[in-house]
Amino acid sequence: MSKVKVAINGYGTIGKRVADAVSQQDDMEIIGISKTRPNYEAWVAVDRGYAIYAPAEKIDAMNKGGITVAGSVEDMVGSAEIVVDCTPGGIGEKNKALYEKAGIKAIWQGGEEHELAGCSFNASSNYEEALGRDFVRVVSCNTTGLCRVISPLDREFGVKKVRATLMRRAADPGDIKKGPINAIVPNPIKLPSHHGPDVKTVMPHIDIVSIAVKLPTTLMHLHALNAELDKDCSAEDVKDLFAKQPRIRFVGQGISSTAEIMELGKDMRRPRGDMWENCIWDESITIYEGELYFFQGIHQESDVIPENIDAIRAMMELESDGARSIAKTNKAMGI
Ligand code: NAD
Repeated sequence: MSKVKVAINGYGTIGKRVADAVSQQDDMEIIGISKTRPNYEAWVAVDRGYAIYAPAEKIDAMNKGGITVAGSVEDMVGSAEIVVDCTPGGIGEKNKALYEKAGIKAIWQGGEEHELAGCSFNASSNYEEALGRDFVRVVSCNTTGLCRVISPLDREFGVKKVRATLMRRAADPGDIKKGPINAIVPNPIKLPSHHGPDVKTVMPHIDIVSIAVKLPTTLMHLHALNAELDKDCSAEDVKDLFAKQPRIRFVGQGISSTAEIMELGKDMRRPRGDMWENCIWDESITIYEGELYFFQGIHQESDVIPENIDAIRAMMELESDGARSIAKTNKAMGI
């Protein structure tokens, strides 16, 4: 069987990781990535053997910077079957006409609005909804982290309501322009935050309200979750359920912070030290007066990467069963 031809438009934090994850699968391949500047990431892409494309007006600058460009972004999408748009939030929507003109399928990331694709995706929550679709949006890192715990809880016990407090990293580690560097910022101040409604784009029936703050850290997000469930259950029941989920990892063994989780990722020789799973402190899982509480760490740079792979597989109808796609992706990536 020939491999599905995938293009990556926007080769930054998310794009470079999706490209590497696609390359690890046996049913899809990278036919090109697009870069706007001849920086260190472009050099690594060359080293990885990816064909480099650029927006037409940037090709000269790329060539002058020593990066041989194979063609324009239009050329790239013209030779792909599906494009994963990993440009910054708000830029991706401008590319929709280009993808429609080329007649190819497209995946956008969480920085775009749900309406752009009409289908917001999380593999363990609504894989079937993306089967054969032309346009899909893989929800943000925080929403992915929330969906991965809410959907099994809902299937097993029924979710009456979720209340989530998100303590968000201020910037990614390589981002030198954002802050704060010495403050805690309620973000947004006007409540609730957009994360609860974003979960509803995947699971419309869930009653969820979220609030969020930005912290001077770059490593991970930390979620404090509280849920009321329909059926009575114990903390052990919830632990047993989470232990069976393919993208949940329990952390303990002396790990008491997001910093130590990231250190674990590096010690495990994960690429870039990535921690693709939700990292739940199993010790924190508590039922108090009938309600569930726990903490989880979410590695913002990487948790959406396997979800993009599953979205490609669903849209290209390479696999009709979500659990089988998740297992295949996990095996290829080493999750
Ligand atoms: P990024 O800034 O790290 O990377 C974006 C890349 O796109 C850069 O290399 C930039 O040069 C390139 N680019 C900009 N304009 C372009 C254009 N017109 N054509 C082609 N390339 C262009 O951004 P990111 O963090 O990877 O975010 C990408 C998307 O993923 C956003 O929607 C974001 O909300 C979402 N997302 C980000 C994170 C995260 O923590 N970084 C997590 C989950 C989802």
